[in-house]
This record gives sequence, C-alpha cells and structure tokens, in this order.
Amino acid sequence: RGRATGGGSRFFAQSLHRFVSTLVVAEHEGGFVKPSSLSALAAAEAIGKENRVSLLLGGSGPALHKAAEHAASSHPLVSEVLVADSDAFAHPLAEPWAELLRSVQQRGGYSHVIASSTSFGKNLLPRAAALLDVSPVTDVTSISEPRVFVRPIYAGNALCTVRYTGEDPCMMSIRSTSFSPTDAMSETKVAPITQVDLSFLSEGSLGKSAWVNLKSQDTERPDLANASVVVTGGRGLKSADNFKLLEQLAEKLGAAVGATRAAVDAGFVPNELQVGQTGKIVAPELYMAFGVSGAIQHLAGMRDSKVIVAVNKDADAPIFQVADYGIVADLFEVLDELLKKLPDK
Ligand code: FAD
Repeated sequence: RGRATGGGSRFFAQSLHRFVSTLVVAEHEGGFVKPSSLSALAAAEAIGKENRVSLLLGGSGPALHKAAEHAASSHPLVSEVLVADSDAFAHPLAEPWAELLRSVQQRGGYSHVIASSTSFGKNLLPRAAALLDVSPVTDVTSISEPRVFVRPIYAGNALCTVRYTGEDPCMMSIRSTSFSPTDAMSETKVAPITQVDLSFLSEGSLGKSAWVNLKSQDTERPDLANASVVVTGGRGLKSADNFKLLEQLAEKLGAAVGATRAAVDAGFVPNELQVGQTGKIVAPELYMAFGVSGAIQHLAGMRDSKVIVAVNKDADAPIFQVADYGIVADLFEVLDELLKKLPDK
C-alpha cells in the first residue's frame, strides 16, 4: 500500500496490514461522524486491538472537512482518514458509493470492510460486495473472532454464529446498538487525512439513480436510532392527532418518538418512525410502548432496550412478555396522568 516504514520491513508491514486492516464506511452530519459510525469503529476494535483502521468519508464542502478532522481523532485505532471529496458522494446514493468502495478496497487490500446497518449501509454494502464478488455478512451483533460473527435470525428469535470463509474483504454491516462507541477519543493521536483518487469517476456511468431532494422536519428531539429514551405508539393510539400526546410526553422526557408498522400504515406518523424488523433497531435505556401489541416483528426492533415499559388495556398482549414494567390500563388515562405529573424539561 506504499505506506510501510521503508527498507526491509516493507514486505512484512504490508502483509501485516493486509491481515488485519479494516475500512470503515463513515456517515457524517453537521461536521461530525455519526454515532452509528462510531459504533462501527467499536466493531473494528472488536476484530482485534492490532487492527489498522481506515475511515472513509465522502461528500463535499466545509462540513466534510470538519467531519474528517473529527474522524481523525475519533479512535486510537484509526490510522488514516480517507476523504472522497466530490458532489457524487454528497448524498447517500448507493451506486456511486458502491463504486467508491470498490475502488478504495482494490487499492487498499483491506481484510475487512464495515458499515453500520443504517438505511444507507444496508443499501450500499450488498452492492459493493457484489462488485467485489464477495458475500456480505449482515446485521452482526457480536464478533468472537476476526471471521466469526453472531447475527440474529428469525426476526431476532435466534442468534446464529457464522464463520466467514470467503475471500478478502470480509464485508459486514453491524447493528450499532450492539457496539458502544468508545469514550476514549484519541486526543493525543490524530490520524493523517488523505484524499481518495477519484479517477474512476470519469470511467463511466455511476448508476441509474439521481438525487431529487430531501424533506425533513426540524426537530430538537434526539435521533430515534440513538436516543436514550424512546416513547412508541401503536395502533391503540387511534389517530395522528393522538400521537401529539406522545410528542408532548417525548418533549418532557427528552425522548424520541417511535411507532409500530400498524401506526405507520394507518398514516398516523411517517415511516421513518417505524421501529422493528423492517424499521429502525433501537436499544435505549428506557422504551415506553403505548397501545402496542408486541408482534414479533416489532419486538425484533426493540427487545434489547434496557428497561421496557408497556401500557396496554389487554393483559394478554405479548408486549407484556418482554416488559419490565407493565400497566394494564387505558393508555389515554396513563398519558394524561404522566403529562400532568411530569415536569417540563
Ligand atoms: P395491534 O397489533 O393492532 O395492537 C394494538 C394494541 O393496542 C392492542 O394490543 C390493543 O390491546 C391496544 N390498545 C388499543 N386501544 C388501547 C387503549 N385505549 N389503551 C391501551 N391499549 C390499547 N411491525 C412493526 O411494528 N415494526 C416492523 O418493523 C414490522 N415489520 C413487519 C414485517 C413483516 C414482514 C410483517 C409481516 C409484519 C411486520 N410488522 C411490523 C407488523 C406486525 O406484524 C404487527 O402487525 C404490528 O406490529 C402491530 O402493530 P400494533 O401493535 O400497533 O397494532
């Protein structure tokens, strides 16, 4: 990789680098690496303390460069930050990003590539793996050896241990809720920031999709996937208007609002709030479920929460099987009381 310290140690350094070297795909926002990508770094550490980690960031403008500086001191294992500075990577379009990943991997010869199981990571990783002719391991929740991983199957009802026996790179997506970002910001060590060679951009078409626009709501609330408190509503809330009660509760608790698929399908809230197998995976300190039955596909997205509180008028609702605290009651009465008794934040 041309980065060896020189002389006779060059070959040894190169083969060592190839043996345990990881490329982490980092997402960033507002000039900072996202917490889910810091979790991907924690996963890289779980592969081995000797792991040499390169962080790949893409996009354009000052926010990219600020995020690159954040990345450079984000973890002691980060040995370099690779920056792909182009409008082609300013948006999470999987096609150009997959080509980028292929190009960076072909130059770097990493043994592992890690992305978080975010919407972006889930879209990107299989495409990049197909281009590199390897099979990705998805939704990893624990790493017992550099090529032995645990991942949930059957909507989280069973855990499967898999050994990757394919060629390099071993590409995986990780569940960010299973890898806590390290507190140890690398204050003394700042990794070099290198520009990625983007000559491949001129070699042909970058895919069939184009960025149109982003509509998002301005909110002070924490991001659902990383919030330490989540209040979720199900079909039992009965209307979009009633969800405003949950929003008031979230306001008081500094929480994110979540929803079941039934609530999303009924049009009460947008689908970015969906928690579950086909929604977001969350593992907050406190998860409060109002009018949620506890279908297996919903549990798949929240069963790792530290404390689960469920409010349901049906004492036999399956949500009570995973709840630490269960209240068999009308959710509107409970919400009313909570809103009256809890102080404003
Ligand atoms: P319901 O099952 O209808 O439950 C409503 C609950 O509210 C009931 O238990 C009822 O007793 C209670 N209730 C009603 N009124 C009140 C009241 N006044 N006070 C107190 N309690 C009240 N679901 C997800 O959530 N996330 C997913 O990612 C997801 N992915 C899926 C993927 C697949 C392939 C499939 C097939 C399904 C998926 N589902 C998912 C749907 C899932 O199977 C359930 O249909 C859904 O979770 C049910 O949502 P719910 O609990 O809001 O509704």
